[in-house]
Amino acid sequence: MQSKNKQVQELLDGYSEVWALNHSLALLGWDMETHMPEAGTRARGMATGQLAMMMQKAMLGMKGGVTKAEKLKDLDAKEQGVVRSLSRELDYFVKVPPKLVDDLERATTEATVVWRSARKKSDFKMFSPHLEKIVELKREVAERLGYTKHPYNALLDLYEEGFTVKDADAVFSRLIPGTRKVMDKVTRAGIYPAKHPLESMKYDAASMERVNEGILKLMQMPKDRFRMDVSTHPFTTNIAADDVRITTRYEGTNFKATMFSTIHESGHALYELGIGDDLKFTPIGSGVSLGMHESQSRFWENVVGRSREFSKLVMPLLKKNLPSISKYDEEDLYFYFNTVRKSFIRVDADELSYNLHIALRYEIEKKVLSGDVKVSELPSLWNETFEKFIGLTPPNDEKGVLQDIHWSGGSFGYFPTYSLGNVILGMIWHKMGDGSLVRDSVAEGDLGTLKEWLGTKIHRWGATYPPKELQDRVFGESYNPDWLLRYLELKFAA
Ligand code: MG
Repeated sequence: MQSKNKQVQELLDGYSEVWALNHSLALLGWDMETHMPEAGTRARGMATGQLAMMMQKAMLGMKGGVTKAEKLKDLDAKEQGVVRSLSRELDYFVKVPPKLVDDLERATTEATVVWRSARKKSDFKMFSPHLEKIVELKREVAERLGYTKHPYNALLDLYEEGFTVKDADAVFSRLIPGTRKVMDKVTRAGIYPAKHPLESMKYDAASMERVNEGILKLMQMPKDRFRMDVSTHPFTTNIAADDVRITTRYEGTNFKATMFSTIHESGHALYELGIGDDLKFTPIGSGVSLGMHESQSRFWENVVGRSREFSKLVMPLLKKNLPSISKYDEEDLYFYFNTVRKSFIRVDADELSYNLHIALRYEIEKKVLSGDVKVSELPSLWNETFEKFIGLTPPNDEKGVLQDIHWSGGSFGYFPTYSLGNVILGMIWHKMGDGSLVRDSVAEGDLGTLKEWLGTKIHRWGATYPPKELQDRVFGESYNPDWLLRYLELKFAA
C-alpha cells in the first residue's frame, strides 16, 4: 500500500519493523504447537519474550507519528484504517504499564498450571485464589484503558472493536429465549438424534488425512499459500499474506471432529488469504475482529459443512477412504453431522445449544468484573445459570466452571466473540437469499462461488473498517441475532 500523504506513508514505512517482528513471533508460536521438541520450551519462551519487547519498543517509537496522523483530515478509507489500527495497538502499550503486563503474564502462567490440575481434581478452591488475582489485574487493566459505564467494556473492545455490554445485552437477551424455543421444539419432535452410531466408528489417520485433503480442494484452498499440520488443539495462524497455517488432529474415532475442525480452520484461513493484496505488510492486513473471524470459520463449518447438500457432496470422498461407511447413506451422514443433545461441555456442544453456553459465560464475566459476585461464588452461580439456560446441573466443577482454559489465561471478553461469529453467520446466510446461494453452490459442488462472495464483500477489506462499519456496509445493520435464530428455526424446527 502506498499513501500520497507523507505522514501516513512514514507510518507504513515504520511499520515494517513491527510487521517483521510479528511475523517472527507468529512463526515461532506455530512451530511451538506443531514441531518443537518439548525441551525447547524454555529457549522459546526467552526468545519470544525478547521479540515481544522489541515489538513493543518499535510500536512505541511510532507514537509521535501516530498522534500527528490522528489529526489529519481528508484521508481515504484505507489510510484512516491504518491510523485507527495503529492508535488502537498503541493505546494498550501506552496505557498499560510494563509492570502490570508483567504481573499479568506471571499470574496467568502460574494460574494455567494450577488450573490444569484443579480441573483434573475438580477442585475449584485450589484455583480460586489465582483467579481472584487475575480478575483484580484485569480490573486494573480496564481502569487503565478507561471505559464508560462498565469495566467489561474496556476488555470487550480488545477483542471486538467498539462492542459494548449494551450491544452484548441486546444480542443475548434475544438469543437466549429464541434458542430455547427452537431447542424445545427439537426435543419434542425428536427428529435430530442425540447420539449416532457413526460416532464410535474407528478410522486410521492416513485415510482421514486424504478425506481432509479432498475437503481442502473442494473449498479451493490455494495450495501454494497454506499448509496443514497436526496439533493438540486445532488453530489457524497468519504468518504472512501468502503463508497461512492451519492444524487439525486425528483422534481415531468420530471422524466428523477432524473433518469439521479442518473446515472450521480453513474458514479462518480463507479470510486471511482473501485480504486485498494492497494491504500486505500494513497494520490493516489482517481480519478485523474475533467475531468477524469466527463468522467465517463457522459459516463454512455449520452453514456449508452441516448442510444436506454437503453430506451428498462429501459422500463419495468418504466412501473412497473410509470403507466402513458403505452401509450408511447421505441422510445418515446428515444426521450424524447434526446430532443435538444437551451437554455440559462447551466444546462438545452442537450448533443449536452452543450460544447458551456462551451466554452463561458472558453473564458470569460481566458480574465478576463489576464486583457484583465474588470469585468464590462462581461455582454456584455457574450451576444455577446452567440449569436456567440449558436445563441441566453439572455434577462437578470439572464439567462446570473449571472446563475452559480462557480465564486462567486472563482472556475476559473473549467468549462473547464466539456467539458474535454465529450472529454474523446468520446475517451472511440471510444476505445469501436465506441460504439459497449455499444450497445451490454446494449442490453443484462449486464452493468457489461462496468463497468469492465472502472475499468480495468481507475478506478483501481486512481491517480497513471497524467491525460495526464493515457490517453496516455489507448488511445494512450490525450484530442482529434475528437471522441466526431464523436460520436455526428453519434448519432444526421447521
Ligand atoms: Mg475459530
